[in-house]
Amino acid sequence: MSLTLDEAKALHDEVHVLDLHADTAKLMDKLGYDLALRHDRPMPTRINVFGHVDLPRMREGGVAGQFFSFWTTPYPERGCAKAVTTQLDALDRAMAKHPEQLAWTRTGADVRAAKKAGKIAALGGIEGGQALEGTLDTIEAFSRRGVRYLGLLHFSANAIGRPAKGRGSDPLSGLTGFGRDVVRECERTGVIVDLAHINRKGYFDALELATVPPMVSHTGVLGVHEHWRNIDDEQIRALADKGGCIGIIFSRKYLGSASIESVVDHILHVIDVAGDEVPALGSDFDGFVVPPEGLEDVAAMPNLTVALSRRGVPTRVLEKILGGNVLRVLDAVPAWGKLAAP
Ligand SMILES: [Zn+2]
Repeated sequence: MSLTLDEAKALHDEVHVLDLHADTAKLMDKLGYDLALRHDRPMPTRINVFGHVDLPRMREGGVAGQFFSFWTTPYPERGCAKAVTTQLDALDRAMAKHPEQLAWTRTGADVRAAKKAGKIAALGGIEGGQALEGTLDTIEAFSRRGVRYLGLLHFSANAIGRPAKGRGSDPLSGLTGFGRDVVRECERTGVIVDLAHINRKGYFDALELATVPPMVSHTGVLGVHEHWRNIDDEQIRALADKGGCIGIIFSRKYLGSASIESVVDHILHVIDVAGDEVPALGSDFDGFVVPPEGLEDVAAMPNLTVALSRRGVPTRVLEKILGGNVLRVLDAVPAWGKLAAP
């Protein structure tokens, strides 16, 4: 039976809705974007590329937690670690200013406790291994600051490997020796390996090494829409075999359509190929994506739940897609060490 909007909102109140990827911290760092202020919903046009996320609209959308991903320009590599640190600082400042609203979380238990306390859970991830500046020690330092995933690649080649497309791409090159060490060090320090943006060869190299579940934080799937950025069925199955989850992106370009139904199509394809333990949400809000109609910002999230239920997704599977699968991965990759004081 399909859910009404009110029923979808009630479900969001009950479960843990988590999104794997939004670039909001960059706006906070560079533009002084205030996460605690309600911003107008961006116009539903081609220029709706950021301003998708803030705390009031997260509450409206029934979102329990957000992975804030920290990205950097890739060149020069020197300075990339600092660029991540300043985004972490911006998030820490928001938390210090609004401790009753926002909490750093690293584990499933943290996320559940934050929700119980009426707070939004903030989680951290890095997009692009250039942030390590070629040294393994940075991984431990970032882990102590709260970073829970590392996206190995972004839009250009780095010391770890090659991107799916962009500067230095090469389909024949996989992970470098350093890249292999990075995967091992991530596992040692409780940082989940994120395989968004990496080329196919590097993707399988990383999976072969992985002993705990990795993820793809934001992607579309080739089974629905042909695009270089999307992953194929073999990639989906291989990630599922390692217990990972896949965040479906809210980008018209990668979904192949402006309809909210296309998000449902990509999620259902992941389920068809690898089962309902795998799909998750990876909006890429504030990341220069144009979201589909009906998913204009984080407040609109319940519309997706309605759309999924109309296509026959039962409540127990909705719970997994909306955040249960992410919680499972968080529980399977224990956070490491003590959180560093900001
Ligand atoms: Zn990305």
